[in-house]
Amino acid sequence: MNQTMRGMRIGQQSLESEAGVRLSERQEQIFICPNQHETKVVFAADADLPDNWECSSCSKTAVRAVEGKTIEELTAQEDGPKTHYDMLMERRSEDELEELLAERISMLRAKRKRGEADL
Ligand SMILES: [Zn+2]
Repeated sequence: MNQTMRGMRIGQQSLESEAGVRLSERQEQIFICPNQHETKVVFAADADLPDNWECSSCSKTAVRAVEGKTIEELTAQEDGPKTHYDMLMERRSEDELEELLAERISMLRAKRKRGEADL
């Protein structure tokens, strides 16, 4: 009698904690290696995510991916416009940039009047 009750209680508890762990304390990350293999790794939700992981198919270094793109690709995309802007800032003063912008806007307005603008 005692043994049966204890067994039921333990069973219920372990089921509950298993569901809780799966829902709230873990996250799945994808790592993509140079050969385009995808390696799925499960981390704790509050874990510090590594940028790299060993590919499970070919053992090369895989890079963590977000929505199908590796963080290397995402970082390159983010840096692109910023670097271009920095280069512009180095060459031109802010006044010159504003002048250039005003010029482009008036050109666009003129185009729009003639019905040629894409926008
Ligand atoms: Zn691989």
